[in-house]
Amino acid sequence: MGNCCPSSPTEDPVPSNGTPPDSGAPATAPSPQKVAPPQTKQGPIGNVLGRTMEDVKNTYAIGKELGRGQFGITHLCTHKVTGEKYACKIIAKRKLVNKEDIEDVRREVQIMYHLAGQPNIVELKGAYEDKQSVHLVMELCAGGELFDRIIAKGHYTERAAASLLRTIVQIIHTCHSMGVMHRDLKPENFLLLSKDEDAPLKATDFGLSVFFKEGEVFKDIVGSAYYIAPEVLKRKYGPEADIWSIGVMLYILLCGVPPFWAESEHGIFNAILRGHVDFTSEPWPSISSGAKDLVRKMLNSDPKQRLTALQVLDHPWIKEDGEAPDTPLDNAVLSRLKQFRAMNQFKKAALRVIAGCLSEEEIQGLKQMFKNMDTDNSGTITLDELRQGLTKQGTKLSENELLQLMEAADADGNGTIDYDEFITATMHMNRMDREEHLYTAFQYFDKDNSGYITIEEMEQALREKGLYEGHDMKEIISEIDADNDGRINYSEFVAMMRKGNPDPAPKKRRDVVNLFESEKLEL
Ligand code: ADP
Ligand code: MG
Repeated sequence: MGNCCPSSPTEDPVPSNGTPPDSGAPATAPSPQKVAPPQTKQGPIGNVLGRTMEDVKNTYAIGKELGRGQFGITHLCTHKVTGEKYACKIIAKRKLVNKEDIEDVRREVQIMYHLAGQPNIVELKGAYEDKQSVHLVMELCAGGELFDRIIAKGHYTERAAASLLRTIVQIIHTCHSMGVMHRDLKPENFLLLSKDEDAPLKATDFGLSVFFKEGEVFKDIVGSAYYIAPEVLKRKYGPEADIWSIGVMLYILLCGVPPFWAESEHGIFNAILRGHVDFTSEPWPSISSGAKDLVRKMLNSDPKQRLTALQVLDHPWIKEDGEAPDTPLDNAVLSRLKQFRAMNQFKKAALRVIAGCLSEEEIQGLKQMFKNMDTDNSGTITLDELRQGLTKQGTKLSENELLQLMEAADADGNGTIDYDEFITATMHMNRMDREEHLYTAFQYFDKDNSGYITIEEMEQALREKGLYEGHDMKEIISEIDADNDGRINYSEFVAMMRKGNPDPAPKKRRDVVNLFESEKLEL
């Protein structure tokens, strides 16, 4: 192996949190426009939003990254005159490769405007389009995601879960009654307005949402693996699919693990189609029968028999001062919820380390590959160049994988990949299989070379990677620590890196058809 893994955090070669303010300026990578866009008196019209293009930076200063998903990277932004803070989702136009993608963004804006004024839905303040990107300026939710609320509370009861669920179902009832199906309901898409204990919960990310009419049948397979309803996999669904996703969330809220679980996405889909929900494992025996009854009725495989949002709100368990008991839930539930999030952070940190760990030879090869792909010698690779290059290399990727790769690679979201971004992304394709990379990552965490990662070492490493969020390291360690000695040895580390936690599923699943054809899911 080459000169791997500097132990000093300052030499970390992998950009750890995206774009510094203002680096998104279209300085070096103007997008090649073959046809001049239509003009108005005010200037050219954008092809996504269909209105005059306008630089968001005239009005807002873009700040640090808040989070990212499949299409968007969300940054903090500040109104230059009023000083008010907002969130700005930046969607790189380069990632919108076909008409459908453009339609999706247009619809996201339409739907957010349509739902404006609803107290538990993130408010859209404005949408801007310039040559490179679409910017959605939204109400800022500074309190983190749904799980953060539960983790922060420490004390967690069925009654608290019922209260969260009530808000979520009310939101969906509102959406459905306004003719909108969300299609991507999951805990990450519910944000808290502030850090206050009683801050309201807000639904966000309408990027996959659609308008529906009664009786209309949808066919696109979209959503995130754990939360997809069986009828969506069968390509024949309506708004009932949202209730299923919330049922999955309720199951997780009560026990800390998803009801349909497998090592691979394919396995998860099969479990969903089988539809068996486990109520026998811990902590289910001690959970109230009302809670189980509601979960069962929301996870009914037949969408016609599944409860509607209104019927869920009428269930005795969910009602304010209803059946949900006020006794604390099993402690294991809380620690599993914590681990569900925290484990990913540690894995993320390890991945970043590995990205910085490629040997000299590997980098040589990638450098050459980069040069070959950069056909116009611009120093950056476009999506087209990437697609052609990978095909030439004999790498077979679906359009979806390609987009994911581009998304993963393009750290600054400017629509092209530069050399450093390319190295990180291509190593991503190595899929963690490489023993020596795992070993080097392990050594990175094991600062004192003792052969074990201790709580302190893990804390330090996560902090260096900018991932330390006050996680309970003991909890994380104990989950990985198979021999219970309070520290992690190499084989425990490898097991963690290889086990479970499939990557968050791709949102767009137009390519899932192939999976059905080639591998025959048990439909
Ligand atoms: P995508 O469509 O790419 O999934 P999202 O709209 O879900 O994009 O945004 C990605 C992430 O950005 C979210 O998971 C969240 O962490 C963060 N985020 C999105 N909207 C806001 C907001 N209004 N306030 C604070 N953070 C936000
Ligand atoms: Mg999202």
